[in-house]
Amino acid sequence: MGDVDVVVIGAGLAGLSAARRLVGAGRSTVVLEARDRVAGRTKGGFLSNGVPVELGGQWIGSTQDVVRELIDELGLETFPSFDRGEALTVYDGNVVRYADDTYGLPPESAAEVTRLWEQLEDLASTVAVEEPWETDGAEELDRQTLDSWLVSNSEDSLARRFFRLLVPALFSAEAPELSLLHFLFYIRSGTSLESLMSTTGGAQESRVVGGTHQIAERMAAELGDDVVRLSCVVRTIRQDETGVLVEYEGGSIRAEHVIVAVPQTLAGRLRYVPPLPALRDGLTQQMPAGAVIKFHIGYDTPFWREDGLSGSVWSFDDAFNVVLDNSPNDGSCGVLVGFLEGSHARNASALSAADRRRPWSIPW
Ligand SMILES: Cc1cc2nc3c(=O)[nH]c(=O)nc-3n(C[C@H](O)[C@H](O)[C@H](O)COP(=O)(O)OP(=O)(O)OC[C@H]3O[C@@H](n4cnc5c(N)ncnc54)[C@H](O)[C@@H]3O)c2cc1C
Repeated sequence: MGDVDVVVIGAGLAGLSAARRLVGAGRSTVVLEARDRVAGRTKGGFLSNGVPVELGGQWIGSTQDVVRELIDELGLETFPSFDRGEALTVYDGNVVRYADDTYGLPPESAAEVTRLWEQLEDLASTVAVEEPWETDGAEELDRQTLDSWLVSNSEDSLARRFFRLLVPALFSAEAPELSLLHFLFYIRSGTSLESLMSTTGGAQESRVVGGTHQIAERMAAELGDDVVRLSCVVRTIRQDETGVLVEYEGGSIRAEHVIVAVPQTLAGRLRYVPPLPALRDGLTQQMPAGAVIKFHIGYDTPFWREDGLSGSVWSFDDAFNVVLDNSPNDGSCGVLVGFLEGSHARNASALSAADRRRPWSIPW
């Protein structure tokens, strides 16, 4: 017999929603969280003017039905992301304003982007989403990286650079680091490339009033302190015929089952006794995390809106590639959010916080 039915490791969205369902089904449950706060990769913060911003995950996409349902159940509200006006693309020193689907590129490169885009959507439509390894030609697709596919399929350097910018924006990893099959699988899982890249009707459609971290905080408040235990860094999971013993810094707890709801790279740092099967362990080792640094810039007003601009910027020239309007719903100030991703994030993480505030100092 265990102390409880189930121990959940990690109080992010995954761990807390698992615990919520278990408790709802009458199972005694404890969630062990390493940090002194819940919410994991969703985290609230404030600008110096006191306006709340999200330091981690923030957008709720049009197809993310499960989290939408959860948001409703927890009494939170969403609002549409700002999505009006023209966007800017910056390449080779040009700043181009556009409102069509050319991404501000010269006609030849824009046509080439469209051709490659359609080719990728067509390929993605063939992926067996539940079992991607069963896709026709899976091995051939998995042998290539997205970058090698680009090099084989296009000679247009701007079009290639466009996709080399799009990949980190979606994956926080670089095009040469990504299997083509995985890229296609991700597109198919998110409906389409179009949907993943869009605001209205796509992945960036909505935001949570007050911030997404409240989803985890409200679940944790419902579960209570007895269930959600903070500052418990789990180190070891021992399994025997009677169940599991989960050892954390400062104690241990016995349960019939354990749910490991931490990112793969961190799950691989836990000690499993007996060890995980070699193939499962190998899988964990071969799923590296991406790299991303998110930044917000606050202004008195979203002044770009008055100029007919959406606040959306794609830059081929700068370390911060993607910028979007992230002003609060009440319009009390203007906020732009941007991302350093993939190699830019890795390079920037070696700099001091002060140097990171001077983006031109980030090695390209
Ligand atoms: C900058 C950024 C922007 C993002 N933007 C979006 C977005 O706009 N839309 C979207 O849908 N998604 C977005 N995401 C992704 C989204 O935030 C994550 O998919 C989601 O929050 C992951 O939740 P999780 O519960 O699986 O993991 P996590 O949130 O990582 O939770 C895991 C928890 O486990 C804890 N933990 C780790 N190791 C241990 C241990 N040994 N013992 C005990 N506890 C441990 C951690 O402290 C953490 O609290 C973004 C992510 C980032 C980083």
